[in-house]
Amino acid sequence: MSTTTFTETKRPIWPAIKRGLRSRCPNCGEGKMFSSFVKVNGECPSCGEELHHHRADDFPPYLVIFIVGHVIITGVLLVEVRYAISTWAHLAIWIPLTIAMSLALLQPLKGGVIGMQWATRMHGFGGHPDDKGGDQ
Ligand SMILES: [Zn+2]
Repeated sequence: MSTTTFTETKRPIWPAIKRGLRSRCPNCGEGKMFSSFVKVNGECPSCGEELHHHRADDFPPYLVIFIVGHVIITGVLLVEVRYAISTWAHLAIWIPLTIAMSLALLQPLKGGVIGMQWATRMHGFGGHPDDKGGDQ
């Protein structure tokens, strides 16, 4: 039986998610989380918190597709019912809006997901080595 004990300070989840949504470090809220569009800094340039433990993977794009899809489809249906515009007008409105919304949402949502992972100590954020799982 293991008797190893350790204390971990509580990490409030909502402030961490909000900081991530602003593309800031979930720990200090000051340092930039991203070194480029969706490339996460290895550690916070302000407080040094390790950020490389994140495993956001496909969840941020999934959230983008979910949100943008609901907004665009609702818009298309409402405009079609109320104004009956041409197909070309639909394409001219909704394709650029879909691209713009997707690009605008991807980085903040990835930041929010990483903030949630940091607050809940997922993967290596808890100070323990990542569990690789599988047979390796
Ligand atoms: Zn920081």
